[in-house]
Amino acid sequence: MQAREEFLRKEWYRKVSVKRRCVVAPGDGIGPEITEAVLRILDAAGAPLEYDLIELGEAVYRQGVTSGVPPEAWDKIRASGCLLKGPVTTPQGQGFKSVNVTIRKTLNLFANVRPCKAYNPFIASPHPGMNLVIIRENEEDLYAGIEHRQTHEVTQVLKLVSRPGCEKIVRFAFEYARAFGRRRLTCMTKDNIMKLTDGLFHRVFDEVAAQYPDIASDHMIIDIGSARLAASPETFDVIVTLNLYGDILSDIAAQLTGSIGLAASANIGEQAAMFEAVHGSAPDIAGRGVANPSGLLIAATQMLVHLGFGDIAQTVKNAWLCTIEDGIHTPDIFREGLSAEEVGTAAFADAVIARLGRTPKQLAPVQYQNTPVRVQTSSPPRSNRQLVGVDVFVYWDQDGRRADTLAGWLQSAAPAGAHLSLITNRGVKVYPEGLPETFCTDHWRCRFRFDGPAEDYGRCLELLGSLAAAGVDIIKTENLYTYDGEPGFTLGQGE
Ligand code: NAD
Repeated sequence: MQAREEFLRKEWYRKVSVKRRCVVAPGDGIGPEITEAVLRILDAAGAPLEYDLIELGEAVYRQGVTSGVPPEAWDKIRASGCLLKGPVTTPQGQGFKSVNVTIRKTLNLFANVRPCKAYNPFIASPHPGMNLVIIRENEEDLYAGIEHRQTHEVTQVLKLVSRPGCEKIVRFAFEYARAFGRRRLTCMTKDNIMKLTDGLFHRVFDEVAAQYPDIASDHMIIDIGSARLAASPETFDVIVTLNLYGDILSDIAAQLTGSIGLAASANIGEQAAMFEAVHGSAPDIAGRGVANPSGLLIAATQMLVHLGFGDIAQTVKNAWLCTIEDGIHTPDIFREGLSAEEVGTAAFADAVIARLGRTPKQLAPVQYQNTPVRVQTSSPPRSNRQLVGVDVFVYWDQDGRRADTLAGWLQSAAPAGAHLSLITNRGVKVYPEGLPETFCTDHWRCRFRFDGPAEDYGRCLELLGSLAAAGVDIIKTENLYTYDGEPGFTLGQGE
């Protein structure tokens, strides 16, 4: 596959031969107008692409497909591995799934890449020097959608973070930094609180960073990192972070540029990738020929780099920068005194085409390479895993919710060789040595340790059987493992 891709990228081959297929979904609202403008610019720039058009969004939802993606579209997207997507309108109401989320999850698009740049003085931004990229892990973390209401009072969501997932995104971020001439990569996590999940992300970051001595690396706790980003975004270069933090940070960063309408994002996987503008389908201006095609055009340049056509992406982006600095602006960015001419979508595309081959004078020209970012991950040796206990989550709402009472009952019900070491309520230790002031819900995490490592799950079943027989209302369990003697669970205070 890789050899074929490399062959297809060869300069002489591109000049004489077949084009790379890519799937285009114009989308809804202003989608078709801006897509047409973008494809015209790509053609004029000589992008060796041919397109498979598919329908996504409103029309598909209306046919009763709740994902917004028709079954036949999948074959085309999978065959091409590349989708340029216009904005789609997500219908209001229950049952409709977001097209973006469906495509991202189905095609394992693990990396979301969002460049956030200010184009001062041509487009006013409160942070003129800002030029950063946010790389967000796209598949894991709190977005697995595994949520439960466990008791009358308590709900939970599972936050899943895997070593291969961390390694893929972190390596991708370092490779991206290298490929785009970036100097510093900042990792943001909350590993002072989430020591295992966010801790894994940070640890993998440190391990991988050691293999990229040419890129400076640092780590920030997400709260102070976000505050710094909001106050002085110009001090950041590339940021890599987990899914939820990245979701929030990338919206904040895009706003700070002062030109969110120009923002683009790439969703990259090992087999496929999707490129789109950050803005929506703008139904308020649809069909009027005034929409700004820049977000989708910048996404298209990301796509060209991804396909190995960095030289063409560079030509297009520099022509676009020239257009912006020549003051040829669509109404959304037109400012009296700053802009020279107000144009519609088609005329804007014509202006970009007329500037192909030129480099901007005031805005920094871009330089892209033809080698796309690809990552290879390793699988570390397996460690020795031992079952040493079990956290039993219990629903209990009696006797004034006094933890000591619950502890006495559980300990008396447990079989020999399993002893209660800890009870927490919403993560706060309430046994042993709890404080009466601690507010308790009806949801208790009760930790049992075995006297020695268990042979198998039978030991847990024996414990759970005894507890259930005594009338304990078990909501769920989490096994406690050690890995080469290191606990694979957070230790309670005093454990
Ligand atoms: P929106 O981004 O479509 O519009 C917000 C404002 O920005 C509007 O005033 C609009 O006219 C303007 N605008 C947006 N893009 C523009 C462009 N290219 N040129 C000029 N002006 C532009 O956000 P919304 O109104 O909240 O959402 C409309 C629909 O788009 C909703 O159905 C939403 O679900 C969907 N949406 C889709 C995506 C996507 O497909 N990636 C992203 C966001 C919203």
